[in-house]
Amino acid sequence: MIVAKDVDKIYPNGCHALKEVSLTVNRGEVVVVVGPSGSGKSTFLRTLNQLETTSGGSIRIDGVCLQDPKTDINQIRAEVGMVFQSFNLFPHKTALENVMLAPMKVLKKSRDEAEQKGKELMLKVGLSERMHSFPSQLSGGQQQRVAIARALAMMPMIMLFDEPTSALDPEMVGEVLDVMQSLAKEGMTMVVVTHEMGFAREVADRVVFMEDGELVVEDTPENFFNNPTNTRLKKFLGQVL
Ligand code: ATP
Ligand code: MG
Repeated sequence: MIVAKDVDKIYPNGCHALKEVSLTVNRGEVVVVVGPSGSGKSTFLRTLNQLETTSGGSIRIDGVCLQDPKTDINQIRAEVGMVFQSFNLFPHKTALENVMLAPMKVLKKSRDEAEQKGKELMLKVGLSERMHSFPSQLSGGQQQRVAIARALAMMPMIMLFDEPTSALDPEMVGEVLDVMQSLAKEGMTMVVVTHEMGFAREVADRVVFMEDGELVVEDTPENFFNNPTNTRLKKFLGQVL
């Protein structure tokens, strides 16, 4: 589903953010990416839907090479949903309207169709009761669940999450992780950058450790947390666990 090979990223300022990062994510897999601040986690995630271009290497999504100039990047973006730390909902639209917008504009769905799908998704993220609320009337956890519903409304085949719970008050983290976990159970292919080690242990098929732009370790959660052999990973886990 995702095949990243030797991906390099050098920002215009010379920062070498990714150094030959290779990762394969199969259909239905959940891969969690952890690592210290500045290690390249967000940069890597952003290259997967070409919010960031690559300086070297290649990325294939469902067989389509993102570096091929003939590839329609807008289509890739529609197929790869992304949820960020900040929810970025449209403040003057209700939760439901936020979820309906892209399907109508991008997928050219009718209002009725978008509304029906939107209501389904609000139910899925546990917000049927609040779908006519405006973002400012919702808690952070509720807003993030709307943002997840909004990404799902595009019927993506892959979902990328970049620290989706980092901006939330602790008591709201669980409700967002629960929605993500049920998505994983339904078979969604997911790449998740998070500091929630409990989520990584429980939900991930594989956990990846990045440091200094390198993918240092890729392993099952069991090995990753219980028997880490890499010294850099051991040091990192010593700091976060
Ligand atoms: P965090 O945990 O703090 O979110 P991260 O692992 O997501 O960190 P990135 O945001 O990918 O790290 O940053 C990797 C490196 O690239 C850092 O050294 C950062 O300063 C640099 N970087 C990120 N974005 C840019 C940019 N737009 N221009 C130049 N350098 C950048
Ligand atoms: Mg980041």
